[in-house]
Amino acid sequence: MATLGIPQNTIAVLQKYNFNFQKKFGQNFLIDTHVLDKIINAAEITKEDFVLEIGPGIGTMTQYLCENAREVVAVEIDKNLIPILEDTLKEYDNVTVINEDVLKVDINKLAEEKNNKKPIKVVANLPYYITTPIIMGLFESHVPIDSITIMVQKEVAERMQVGPGTKEYGALSLAVQYYAKPEIIANVPPNCFMPRPKVGSAVIRLTRHKETPVQVEDEKLMFRIIRASFNQRRKTLVNGLKNSGELSFSKEIIEESIEELGVPLTIRGEALSLEQFAMLSNILSKKTESKS
Ligand code: SAM
Repeated sequence: MATLGIPQNTIAVLQKYNFNFQKKFGQNFLIDTHVLDKIINAAEITKEDFVLEIGPGIGTMTQYLCENAREVVAVEIDKNLIPILEDTLKEYDNVTVINEDVLKVDINKLAEEKNNKKPIKVVANLPYYITTPIIMGLFESHVPIDSITIMVQKEVAERMQVGPGTKEYGALSLAVQYYAKPEIIANVPPNCFMPRPKVGSAVIRLTRHKETPVQVEDEKLMFRIIRASFNQRRKTLVNGLKNSGELSFSKEIIEESIEELGVPLTIRGEALSLEQFAMLSNILSKKTESKS
């Protein structure tokens, strides 16, 4: 395999196909073999695994995945990359490229057809403009997932890992930590990509919890509460929940529930841990939302 992770090889392919980078698709191709090795090692891919790759680009990481996995499906939105992928992946008979927006692909169906509903591994150098919807989509649609090993913007990787008391803590931290154990694997500087992104990047592995760390009666309600609490970060939790368009609990019910939780009424949402959000959600799920 002549690795595309070497800049000259990537340049040769881009020139051969006269490829123009599309900014709107977040195209920054990896040109560093050490980083590729780190991603593949962190994902712990074996010949048993079915791997979903999101955004293969010209197939740089896909080649590594094909070498290491049993089967790979790569979903790429840019139709101009499809003939390139046919060329760069022609040696492999264990890969399927789907020309589609990953947000429109039924990944549950894919896992069912290709992996007998068993947990799949997701590996990607993500397009940064849709990092959060991709991750949330994978978790919230309850796709059977073993792990997600992804390159994201450095700040986003940090946000996924932190707890209360930091300014990066937010809805993404709570959602990720509810579903998975996050672990930053490596920081990756802009010169590892072509073209260079304006921001630093990091590889993070999200290992799906076998059992969620907190027990929640109504997951959807908990996430509505979390979103409402961080929509207006500088406001109190009471006001955040009261002003949310997604919730319709009266101020009295909200105050009563926060008191039941055992925290002061002046507390801000950003001070609550995942466990406390789960408790608050369980308290509120027993109360009725008002119609107004
Ligand atoms: N994996 C390649 C690499 O590491 O060199 C390319 C990574 S590049 C950061 C992101 C890739 O995702 C691009 O190829 C881009 O066209 C593709 N992409 C962007 N939005 C997408 C979407 N909604 N669905 C599928 N692929 C998408």
